[in-house]
Amino acid sequence: MIDEGVIKFSFSRIKNTFNFHHFERINKTRTILHKKELIGEYPIEKLGYGNISMRSPKGGFYISASQTGAKKVLEESDYVEVHDYSFKDNSLTFSGEMKPSSESLTHASIYSISDSINAVIHIHHNELWKKMITHHSPSTDETIQYGTIEMAEQVKTISEGKTNFSFVMKGHEDGIIIFAESMNLALDHTLELYDRYLS
Ligand SMILES: [Zn+2]
Repeated sequence: MIDEGVIKFSFSRIKNTFNFHHFERINKTRTILHKKELIGEYPIEKLGYGNISMRSPKGGFYISASQTGAKKVLEESDYVEVHDYSFKDNSLTFSGEMKPSSESLTHASIYSISDSINAVIHIHHNELWKKMITHHSPSTDETIQYGTIEMAEQVKTISEGKTNFSFVMKGHEDGIIIFAESMNLALDHTLELYDRYLS
C-alpha cells in the first residue's frame, strides 16, 4: 500500500511570500534527483513522492511543497519556508503559496538533532529500499509510518550524534532519508547509495 502525501499534522500559514535563499542550490539538486526518479510521481495512483529541504538563515527550513512530485523542474513558488514546529502539538507554521510536504515533521526532527545539519533529502526507490533492508542499513521500524510523531521520535534516536547519515524507513514503502552538513554532501551521499546498490 502506498501511504504517501497525506498530511498528518496541523499547519498555519503566516504569509504567502518569503525570502528564498539558496533556491538555485536546492532546486538544482532536486532536478537531478527527479531525473533519476528518486523524486517523482507514482503513475497509477498519481501520488507525488520524495521531497527535499534545506535549513534557512532564520533557523527553519525550506521544503518542497506537497504534491509537487510530477513536475520536472520546480519554481520558487513550489517550495515553502517552515518557521516553527511543535512535536508535542503535531503542528507547524510556514510561509508560501502551497502546503508544506506531508513529511515536513520528519525533516524538522532531523534539523533539531544538530545545528550542523543543513540539508535533508527524502527519496523513494523500491529496489534501493529492499537492498538497504537486506544489508541491514540503519532503519526505522515496520510499525512506524511517515509523517507521524513516532517517526520524528525514532528518527531522532537513530540519528543521534550524526551529521552525514542515511536510513531506510521500513514502515514507509520505498522511503529512504539522507541528511548532511550541506546540500552537496547530501547529494553525494544519495548518489553514492545509488551507485553502491543499483549498479
Ligand atoms: Zn515518502
